[in-house]
Amino acid sequence: MPSPPSQPIWLLRLGDQLDPQAPELTTADPSRTAVWMAEARGEAEHVPSHRARIALFISAMRHLRDTLRDRGWTVQYWTLDDPDARAELADRLEADLRAGQPDELRVSQPGDHRVLTAVQRACEQTGVRCTVEDDPHFIDSVSDFQAWARGRKSLRLEHYYRALRKRTGILMTDGEPAGGQWNFDADNREAFGRHGPGPVPAPAAFPPDPTTRTVLTTVEQHFPDHPGALEAFDWPVTPHDAEQALDDFIEHRLPRFGRYQDAMWLGQPHLFHSRIAAALNLKLLDPRTVIARAEAAWQDGHAPLASVEGFIRQILGWREYVRGIYHARMPAYAEQNALAAHAELPGFYWSGETRMVCLKETVTQTLTYGYAHHIQRLMVTGLYALLLGVRPQAVHEWYLSVYVDAVEWVELPNTLGMSQFADGGLLASKPYAATGQYIARMSNYCAHCPYNPKVRTGDDACPFTTLYWDFLLRNETRLRPIPRMKMQLRNLERLQEEERTAIRMAAERLGASRGEGILR
Ligand code: FAD
Ligand code: SF4
Repeated sequence: MPSPPSQPIWLLRLGDQLDPQAPELTTADPSRTAVWMAEARGEAEHVPSHRARIALFISAMRHLRDTLRDRGWTVQYWTLDDPDARAELADRLEADLRAGQPDELRVSQPGDHRVLTAVQRACEQTGVRCTVEDDPHFIDSVSDFQAWARGRKSLRLEHYYRALRKRTGILMTDGEPAGGQWNFDADNREAFGRHGPGPVPAPAAFPPDPTTRTVLTTVEQHFPDHPGALEAFDWPVTPHDAEQALDDFIEHRLPRFGRYQDAMWLGQPHLFHSRIAAALNLKLLDPRTVIARAEAAWQDGHAPLASVEGFIRQILGWREYVRGIYHARMPAYAEQNALAAHAELPGFYWSGETRMVCLKETVTQTLTYGYAHHIQRLMVTGLYALLLGVRPQAVHEWYLSVYVDAVEWVELPNTLGMSQFADGGLLASKPYAATGQYIARMSNYCAHCPYNPKVRTGDDACPFTTLYWDFLLRNETRLRPIPRMKMQLRNLERLQEEERTAIRMAAERLGASRGEGILR
């Protein structure tokens, strides 16, 4: 067993803290500071992680380890194969802290509350001082978000995003939003029409290098029963690759990103999306660089403002905002279930075996690549779970398992808040509830499906449409106080009792939750 580092300060780098240029590293003195890293199977098993997700994290970790060692750092690194590896990260850490007795363990704010608690406990048990610092990767700090949120009744993205635009000057001209508008939704979010997207430039691929190939074999050996394929693995695993992925997106897909942000098409898993979420979340890419490159593409006339604003809104807006919500509201946030949803997650979420084409396509693609774009996550897999009334914690576990970009700080608010309305409207001003006709409008899935999105009961009824009406029926009282639900509830009032009964019975056959509860 290697002896623990002799330096008095240990810098813990987690699997999603992999920027070799991070200020924590560039400002530290390697003669007094050692880096401590560990691959821990518990991190892949606390939810049944997609094998591509495990491989991506471990490969990127090993690349950082090698870069730092080349630079002369002492890196204490535990691999999965090490005979002294421990299943739990905190157990390995605690044993090393006890043996090495450094003066201090430093860590940037972990993106998972569970990990933070475990690391703090390991320090307490061994009497080592633990210093948790805000993660400088993010544009906003946890405390600045909390200052913004203090005293507000609702925490709407739009208000936060505008405040950040003003503070940073991003997409601002003389104190006003570029182009005179904060929001270009009216120009964005088109469907493709009957002829589809036309040629879509394939995103840059990063075939596995020797380090990644070794990791893929290790993952196959250690996690044979985990979901997800490894054959298509081509994710960027270093900052250099991640920059190339960004260049490729800015050059080839950003100009059409906004316009087709919400569109879906069979056989087109990426369309005009960037595919950079994992690189951002592992900190291989800096959000400031991403935003600056997108803004420059508009200034150079390469991409329209509507597209660039739509893209920057995701990174400067949503990404920073959900992180703020997560750190402000955890750990209670994870337990919420405002719609009292108790159904189990259908088995086809793990296999893709369903006749519903939209779900089959999204789940199969997810299992193949560890990727689905936002509208597939929100308005296909997320929508179905919402309408069925699946227990939000089961939905959360699925999303945390199956996407390569999944880290709890970003996944949980998107799932529990935006997608499942389990926080009772803290994050979204209304549930994202829709019939199959939304999917029919935004994709060609329904044209290839045995179900009819216009029909709510009967043999060819689209399950989304049946469940949408049942969702309104069973949640009517809870949804009444929400101003933006008025129109949908007015339509519900037109349903005759006979139709209501038929919907309820059809929804029960689909396994819908009949949970009782109050909107918090
Ligand atoms: P693009 O569509 O190209 O968007 C650009 C970037 O903006 C993304 O890379 C991402 O960094 C950021 N972004 C976009 N939307 C969001 C959002 N809603 N919240 C935060 N950042 C956003 N994103 C994750 O990074 N990890 C997750 O685990 C995750 N889980 C999600 C679960 C659900 C139920 C939903 C509805 C969304 C989730 N998202 C998550 C947000 C979003 O779907 C993904 O960031 C996006 O699909 C990743 O693909 P992309 O890189 O091609 O993104
Ligand atoms: Fe999905 Fe319904 Fe459309 Fe089939 S008809 S693809 S189930 S929305």
